[in-house]
Amino acid sequence: MLNVYKIREDFPILDQQVYGKPLVYLDNGATTQKPLVVLETIDKLYNRENGNVHRGVHHLSTITTENYEAARDTIRKYIHAAHTHEVIFTHGTTSSINAVAFSFGEKYVHAGDEIIVSGMEHHANIVPWQMLCERKEARLKVLPVDETGDLMLDKLEDLISDKTRLLAVTQVSNVLGTINPVKEIVEIAHAHDVPVLVDGAQGIQHEKTDVRDIDCDFYVFSGHKIYGPTGVGVLYGKEKWLNEMPPYQGGGDMIKKVTFEKTLYEDLPLKFEAGTMNYIGAIGLARALEYLQKTGLDQIIAWEKALLDYATEKLKKIPGLHIYGNSKQKASIISFLIGDIHHYDTGMILDKLGIAVRTGHHCAEPLVESYGITGTVRASFAFYNTKEEVDVLYNGLMKVVEMLS
Ligand code: PLP
Repeated sequence: MLNVYKIREDFPILDQQVYGKPLVYLDNGATTQKPLVVLETIDKLYNRENGNVHRGVHHLSTITTENYEAARDTIRKYIHAAHTHEVIFTHGTTSSINAVAFSFGEKYVHAGDEIIVSGMEHHANIVPWQMLCERKEARLKVLPVDETGDLMLDKLEDLISDKTRLLAVTQVSNVLGTINPVKEIVEIAHAHDVPVLVDGAQGIQHEKTDVRDIDCDFYVFSGHKIYGPTGVGVLYGKEKWLNEMPPYQGGGDMIKKVTFEKTLYEDLPLKFEAGTMNYIGAIGLARALEYLQKTGLDQIIAWEKALLDYATEKLKKIPGLHIYGNSKQKASIISFLIGDIHHYDTGMILDKLGIAVRTGHHCAEPLVESYGITGTVRASFAFYNTKEEVDVLYNGLMKVVEMLS
């Protein structure tokens, strides 16, 4: 079993007081804290090894380039991609999805075509597709969510038509915590020759991810949600798509030859990495993934499940508390409201008790509004959280009930 108290020593930020109370950080869905090994790597890179990648013949540029390309391979292994050049660095999930919407959309989407998203998507997996549909006069279709918080898979076949060009779905809902059966979704879509983009922003940190097993065409995630730095993310794409897709940004590093008449583009992966990338972030992200592997993914998953079960049972004891998202397959995310107490008020009181949770629509307005509410309180747990912290949350919520009911 994971020794959570030992783990916490690797995350110095957790050991502090907020308003004179020990910090209880339960906003891991928004961003995760970074282990010392990531912080030390970034510190060392800026202090000792900083040179721009792929640019210079000098020592610093050479070692940074080696580290950057090694990071790409670490990520390939982590997500089990077939080729290192299928891993493209971006600024995060949002920029990865926008990249596919622009590049794939440019080549394959035309007037009258259709894109399918699910009813539980984050705005990052809605708005870029809407923008594409507006540009191309295409149509956005939505796979609905049932009352438990699961996708209505039986409706998928009916939604797909010979006009469907792509299906974009989240691996884990950032509001409901539902772990979607992405492999099954891909199977259904592929039976109709529809490629699938999986948004792994909330999935990769809670699940073992094997893009070849899922067989998705694109997989995207953010470094900062998996214990890595901010400002770096990944776009995985199957080689056959990435080779055919046009670059969506032009500039340095993505070219083979430039003349005023014509530019020849680089091969993968650089074709999609215009300008100076966040190479230090990419190397930091690789260190974060190595740290997780060393800690043990099975143990991390088991501990998060134990936390989810413990917290769910505990929160259900709070009078008037309603949980949104009760799928049998859930990651360690709990969204709730207590009676008619406003989510913001609950969040404010918890904050004063040192407890960090997220309140609001969680950038998933269509989903949240489908429940006839403006937002929820969301507690999202990481493997460094403890059962004692769940108890602190429970006591804090009882205080909210006492003050506001
Ligand atoms: N997709 C999901 C499911 C998310 O939860 C988030 C962020 O919360 C995003 C996409 C966007 O991630 P980022 O802001 O790191 O680009």
